Amino acid sequence: MRNITVLGSTGSIGTNTLDVVRRSRDAFRIHALAAGRNFDLLATQIAEFKPRVVVVSDPDRLAAVLRERSIPMPELSRDLVAIATDSAVDTVMSSIVGVAGLEATYEAVRAGKRVGLANKEVLVSGGALVMDAVRASGCELIPVDSEHNGAHQCLRAGRRREATRLILTASGGPFRDTPKSAMAFVTRAQALKHPTWKMGNRITIDSATLMNKGFEVIEACWLFDFAPAEVDVVVHPQSTVHAMVEYNDGSVIAQICATDMRMPIQYALTWPDRAPAPVPKIDWSESRSWDFSPPDLDRFPALRLAYESMAAGGSATCTLNAADEVAVEAFLEERITFPEIASTVEETLQRIPHRQVGSIEDILTIDGESRVIARALVARGSVQVRV
Ligand code: NDP
Repeated sequence: MRNITVLGSTGSIGTNTLDVVRRSRDAFRIHALAAGRNFDLLATQIAEFKPRVVVVSDPDRLAAVLRERSIPMPELSRDLVAIATDSAVDTVMSSIVGVAGLEATYEAVRAGKRVGLANKEVLVSGGALVMDAVRASGCELIPVDSEHNGAHQCLRAGRRREATRLILTASGGPFRDTPKSAMAFVTRAQALKHPTWKMGNRITIDSATLMNKGFEVIEACWLFDFAPAEVDVVVHPQSTVHAMVEYNDGSVIAQICATDMRMPIQYALTWPDRAPAPVPKIDWSESRSWDFSPPDLDRFPALRLAYESMAAGGSATCTLNAADEVAVEAFLEERITFPEIASTVEETLQRIPHRQVGSIEDILTIDGESRVIARALVARGSVQVRV
């Protein structure tokens, strides 16, 4: 029986995790849940999964909702690190969005927990620090992002030293075929319409700019010890092949499964075992065709910025993430255009000197400084769009 803490239980990954748990009650038990401001959904989850502890932004408000709905009260707290490191917990699902999830995930790693990693910021902002902690504690860090989860599976087919290249697939997002000249006119609603996945707002916009794929390249380098030049991105609109690993003899192993996050979530919870599929399997009696093409770095400069930041090292990827979060928020509030997301990030990177990162405090400081610069660029409307 696995005792699980879900960080970010009310989000897209969190609710899918709870659905996997719901289907395997004999294998998984929820010890703790953490969420931000969705008190109603959190209360419903508490009624169903009966966690011992719940972490939430406003415990008094949650307590009022629980009393109103006559739901038995768990222990309420604001301490994310405590529920990520509690000795009663063996598995932590890291699915808070943003740097808010960084410290608790890092401490779960240091405490040697199995960590199912969905939160991107953990490795994009703090890759060196977190991977040092993984090596020191021997923790099992199992990626939940479908591409890295696919790569994790492909790498089981051979020895790591025989793997020469990692190929991550990208759906290409809603603007895969949009000409560069039209990019400045795309709307918030169009950008939020992802062709294959239903996800939170930030990652959906990041998928449209391909910044999300850039983050995935960075995460893949840290997780599997590849150099940026050894990680390729290919556009695959059907999102069914999630990742491929090329071995030194030229053989390529691909991971293929239904486009549903419950697949990688379940894998992260059951590894090294496999369990019956939580969703319908691919029907091979249907005809289908799959396309693969290279990404266009001219129309999607965010992907180029991610490669450059990873190659620059140090704090560059932390700035990349922080500036992107500010820019995505500004785009969602219709204060900047779609191409200005990448140009805000690029200018922020140019203005912040890169430095080494030695602690979570360093990361949070650089994150904060980067946000100040990015916000100023957005507010002044001084972001130069490259044409
Ligand atoms: P959502 O926006 O759907 O959910 C985010 C979750 O984080 C919510 O439960 C939210 O709570 C919670 N949260 C936000 N801030 C805090 C805080 N300060 N303290 C506690 N909880 C907080 O995001 P997703 O589920 O889509 O994504 C989560 C992470 O996983 C992201 O880093 C994303 O990039 C990554 N990821 C997501 C994928 C997907 O398919 N969705 C795929 C691969 C990676 P509340 O809603 O109650 O405010």
